[in-house]
Amino acid sequence: MRTSKAIFTAVLLASMSAAAQQAAESQPSAAAPAPDATQTAQPGSAAAQAMPIAPAAAAPAPTTMDQVVSLFIEREHGLIKMLATRTPVVETYLQNLSADPQLGPVPSEDHYFLGRMDMGETVDRKDYLKEQEKSMQQRLMGGFAKLYKVQYQPLGFSWMVYADRTDFDREHYNFRYARREFLGEVRCLVFDVTPKKDAGKGRFLGRIWIEDQGYNIVRLNGTYYPAPRNSYFFHMDSWRLNLIPGYWVPAFIYSEEGDFSAGVKNKNAFKAQTRIWGYDLKKGGKDDELTQIRVDSVTDESSAAQDASPLQAERAWQQQAEDNVVERLTNAGLLAPEGDVDRILQTVVNNLQVTNNIDLPRPVRTRVLLTSPLETFSVGNTIVISRGLVDVLPDEASLAAVLSHELAHIVLGHNLGSKYAFNDRMLFSDEGTYQNLGFRHIPEEEAAADKKAVDLLKNSPYAQKLDNVGLFLKALQQRAPSLNALLTTHLGNPLATNGTVNRLSGLATQGPALDNTKLDQIAALPLGGRVKINPWNDKAEMVKTAPVAITSARDKMPFEVTPFFPRLVRYGSGANAPAAAPTTAANSGSGN
Ligand SMILES: [Zn+2]
Repeated sequence: MRTSKAIFTAVLLASMSAAAQQAAESQPSAAAPAPDATQTAQPGSAAAQAMPIAPAAAAPAPTTMDQVVSLFIEREHGLIKMLATRTPVVETYLQNLSADPQLGPVPSEDHYFLGRMDMGETVDRKDYLKEQEKSMQQRLMGGFAKLYKVQYQPLGFSWMVYADRTDFDREHYNFRYARREFLGEVRCLVFDVTPKKDAGKGRFLGRIWIEDQGYNIVRLNGTYYPAPRNSYFFHMDSWRLNLIPGYWVPAFIYSEEGDFSAGVKNKNAFKAQTRIWGYDLKKGGKDDELTQIRVDSVTDESSAAQDASPLQAERAWQQQAEDNVVERLTNAGLLAPEGDVDRILQTVVNNLQVTNNIDLPRPVRTRVLLTSPLETFSVGNTIVISRGLVDVLPDEASLAAVLSHELAHIVLGHNLGSKYAFNDRMLFSDEGTYQNLGFRHIPEEEAAADKKAVDLLKNSPYAQKLDNVGLFLKALQQRAPSLNALLTTHLGNPLATNGTVNRLSGLATQGPALDNTKLDQIAALPLGGRVKINPWNDKAEMVKTAPVAITSARDKMPFEVTPFFPRLVRYGSGANAPAAAPTTAANSGSGN
């Protein structure tokens, strides 16, 4: 009956190998060849017609660095104007660090921010982290809390989407050419940027990388200076991707503070990843409701001219709820459109189904939640797993384990969310998603699903690899008390409660003891190493990286934040265009 469904374990091993610590594959190389003076800027010529946004007109090739400065100032103003109508999703995940003698700086607590950024608002830099009469730690966090209180105006960590939103010009800044350098396959001119005397507070101070065809800024690294009294600017490394013709849009910002050398007592050590996506989302998800009427393609596909039986009606109702939720989460910028990662997830689910003779009336679907916190949930027959969770899983068996819990809910008929078949329940603002949707099961259903999941796994191709799942659960348990934000779920049941892992407890003691000093024991991976998101269209795909040898226990960095080092490519170039890979640099140490 299921002859077309084979088991594809081997296919997945390539993308789910345990040795997937990330390569800093696009480390800036040394001296680049001299620029070709005859080259003119031709942003995205081939694919320009298909895109809704017109690329900038080709500029004459500059012959002096002074002309280059004029060009990139002009291009930056063009980017600010182009993005002024956009409201992308912005997520910041921060880990406070404390020193561990064996493992180096490790997370001691964490914080999570998610919101929508209005790119059209003028940023008032004077309000930035202006909290008085508090310790620096409190000022830092108080500043964030204040900024993030309004969910749709999260600034703070996303400050460095631009060098200077209002005054990026020669009146306020000195630009000094430093050198040429490749970032990925993109040749760049590097400039040091310093604010002019009396340019005012909170000006950009640092370095920018300019690609040498359209003269757009592709990377910014530095801080803001001088800080207003009693406040504090942190350091940032901000990366842009060429996702549409002619423009490089802000995608990743890494922040880091702290010094762990002997004698230094900096209590503000942290590292944070800020990701921006959903540039192509409609504002509030409602703008096009009355402008796009497509009735011509709708046909009646029911197999027989019969009314639904009560059971058929119940299933159709649940499917309607499932479709409503998937569509609403996608429009809110929280769910990736169906894509490459789903094929891998579905193969794993299929492996579990085939070996357990599970035949469901409707196929199980999978989707990727775009956020970092570790969570899974299911609605109808759709299993949702977060990007962050796929990132940290060490191997395919562990992926199968977390998916098996949701498959068990489906098999056991623990349907949730049928109330969302009523369309009025989908009418809320995007930022109200977490208040309006939820898929948490009662404890009895959780326990039953965990028990069933273990049965499914023991009867699957992953039966011999459950030691790895046990190791992952032990690693999660070891870090759980300091990763409260990463383990706080927003739609589904948590994997851990109050610092104690409770998911798949039947496997928690499986396998060898966790040993941080064993270099070949990779129980969990850092964040950001598996799934890359295209920030323009939210599509998710697996990262392709070469394995990097682990040389010390500090290389493992389970569940940790690392710097971003995307391999920059031009729009439409190469096989993996248009999105560049947001790979992360392993073992980067302090990047300031
Ligand atoms: Zn559950």
